[in-house]
Amino acid sequence: MSYSIFRVIKEALNDHKGWGPAWRDPAPKSHYDIVIVGGGGHGLATAFYLASRYGLRNIAVLERGWLGGGNVGRNTTIVRSNYMLPGNEPFYELSMKLWEGLEQELNYNAMVSQRGVLNLCHSDAQRDAFRKRGNAMLLQGADAELLDTDGVRQLYPYLNFNDARFPILGGLLQRRGGTVRHDAVAWGYARAADRLGVDLIQNCEVLDFRVENGATVGVETSRGFIGAGKVGVAVAGSSSRLMSKVGIRLPIESHVLQAFVSEGLKPVIPGVITFGAGHFYLSQSDKGGLVFGGDIDGYNTYASRGNLPVVEDVCEGAMGLMPMLGRARLLRSWGGVMDMSMDGSPFIDRTKIPGLFFNGGWCYGGFKATPASGLCFAHLLATGTSHEVASQMRLDRFARGAMIDEKGQGAQPNLH
Ligand SMILES: Cc1cc2nc3c(=O)[nH]c(=O)nc-3n(C[C@H](O)[C@H](O)[C@H](O)COP(=O)(O)OP(=O)(O)OC[C@H]3O[C@@H](n4cnc5c(N)ncnc54)[C@H](O)[C@@H]3O)c2cc1C
Repeated sequence: MSYSIFRVIKEALNDHKGWGPAWRDPAPKSHYDIVIVGGGGHGLATAFYLASRYGLRNIAVLERGWLGGGNVGRNTTIVRSNYMLPGNEPFYELSMKLWEGLEQELNYNAMVSQRGVLNLCHSDAQRDAFRKRGNAMLLQGADAELLDTDGVRQLYPYLNFNDARFPILGGLLQRRGGTVRHDAVAWGYARAADRLGVDLIQNCEVLDFRVENGATVGVETSRGFIGAGKVGVAVAGSSSRLMSKVGIRLPIESHVLQAFVSEGLKPVIPGVITFGAGHFYLSQSDKGGLVFGGDIDGYNTYASRGNLPVVEDVCEGAMGLMPMLGRARLLRSWGGVMDMSMDGSPFIDRTKIPGLFFNGGWCYGGFKATPASGLCFAHLLATGTSHEVASQMRLDRFARGAMIDEKGQGAQPNLH
């Protein structure tokens, strides 16, 4: 069933009795050409592009819980392509272009809102670095504007401009950046993939891989063995644990990242802003809640429960940027397990085991990457070669000294 204004009117006149489930609930088949492990944004997008762009149909997505229950439904919904390095920026700009056409392509309202992402700067050195990054973005075909203090003040008059320690000197604005309703992305890709014949199997945990004669022939799951010509793993925070089943040790650590929402307020924050003197980012949801976050908790964990010191640190960032936020009440917070890589950049690559492919290391910026990640992983699975914009996202880049260290922090996953 297609979604359209005519359908909405028809259903409104018919007591909404004609709506069906958004996707089927099929029993797993004994064999698929391609099995994707993980029904998050990246796994579902991969399945959709395999079917829509590469014409492959005998595909299953295996999800241990429910679709969208992982980080794709837990993030702070920010999308942007304000990267600097050649290994990253063309990839994220492709993602931005895919976001711009996503709702038409999926026939689904994902609430793509290009309300602008503004990174604030508080020192001359930081402004120089932003100018450099903005120029790199422009060279790659993205949009970027450097604002001075008055330019920022026109957009966000409530900020703490004259703070003695962190005066706001300006900011790097990407107007095409913004927010996308996170779980709608999972649902939109799921529905569109299902309509193309992809089997979405929920409550089906992959427990191990079956390798015969050195090659992957399928997966052992909580619902029995499922054969596969190729297996693509896209399990985000569970990457290290799952790949260790076949002895693959990844350059990834798992950390928890928290997010926060305030009570609903009148419109006060038109876009997305980041504080440059601490790690703090903020936007306002369409329901009025301020959605914000900061650093990861900083210790290795597979538990998605964060700790109070980070809550305090994030709230200090909020107060430093916008003191009036101290009057708002915090409504809820939650956490998600992040697959933090050693240089802060992801992997879309084949593994040493034929037939087994890996997508992960998205750190806490993988939501914005969802469309391009799906497209590039689908390209790799379908053609056996890397997509040109993901050609540097290889597992062996550390051995070759070819890191994509956007922040220049070195092998310090919690700092990327
Ligand atoms: C609090 C928070 C805020 C964030 N904010 C942003 C942001 O503003 N912008 C941004 O770009 N990124 C953000 N991120 C990061 C982003 O959400 C993730 O990088 C991205 O969602 C990861 O990819 P995914 O959607 O495929 O992951 P997930 O949705 O986690 O999907 C992985 C799936 O694999 C499943 N799985 C795991 N193991 C198995 C198994 N053995 N068998 C079967 N299934 C399995 C899981 O159940 C899960 O559903 C944020 C993350 C968090 C936690």
